[in-house]
Amino acid sequence: MKICVLASGSAGNCIYVASGKTRILVDAGISGRQTVRRLEEIGVSIEAIDAICVSHEHDDHTGGVGILYKRHQIPVYANGGTADALSRRPRLQGLPWRVFTTGAPFSIGDLVIEPFSIPHDAYEPVGFTLHCEEGRIGIALDVGTPTTLVRERLRGCHALVVEANHDEHLLQEAPRPWALKQRIRSRQGHLSNRMAAEMLAEIASPALQQVFLGHLSEDCNCPILAVRTISEALAESGHPHIRVCPTYPDRVAEVWDSSVRPPPGCTENPPIPA
Ligand SMILES: [Zn+2]
Ligand SMILES: [Zn+2]
Repeated sequence: MKICVLASGSAGNCIYVASGKTRILVDAGISGRQTVRRLEEIGVSIEAIDAICVSHEHDDHTGGVGILYKRHQIPVYANGGTADALSRRPRLQGLPWRVFTTGAPFSIGDLVIEPFSIPHDAYEPVGFTLHCEEGRIGIALDVGTPTTLVRERLRGCHALVVEANHDEHLLQEAPRPWALKQRIRSRQGHLSNRMAAEMLAEIASPALQQVFLGHLSEDCNCPILAVRTISEALAESGHPHIRVCPTYPDRVAEVWDSSVRPPPGCTENPPIPA
């Protein structure tokens, strides 16, 4: 099983997930051209993609859906609330949605996908766990609060993509309108480094190999700070083996591959590009 975050941040989110037989995208929030190019960088042709699963209707998760469907006829999966919201957009009218039910597992090829509800200011936002014989991964971006349900769904995964949106101090000091800061901090906004660290320290297990930090704010966070905050919390909770990696708006992140496990006891985190 493989996972690669092709892009993450407020400008666009797109995550590639593959089992031995199935290849999908979770969200398609960058342009069609960028999606094709970044997949090629990791050796995957867009023609090999079996489906797109959409977490919620915000543009940074769906901006490329229309063009990818139109050019490549990739089936698009979403729950009813998200499909309804997106169907009102002129460029997505007539798209034949494959509608899943939040809370009910469904299959695409040999991947079993479980969508679960997350608190965020959208119609029916979800996170996903995806599993097959080779492993289990969890994805939860745009999470205002790490609810009990979110924690339970992410527990026991081998790799996770979770939000580490902002550093609370940097957000406090940022020259942003008060109302926007309140929206980000709210129970339906975005997860801070501290909240992500607390959640991960609580749900981490010996099975968890790698954590990707997503949706980093460009002016209220930085990869070094986010990785350090979460790595320290994981080490303090007795899980120094877990590799913590940033993801980027403008380039692909590291690939996690269940067939290439890091050596036991390896605590070294990857170098962070300047
Ligand atoms: Zn959102
Ligand atoms: Zn988002």
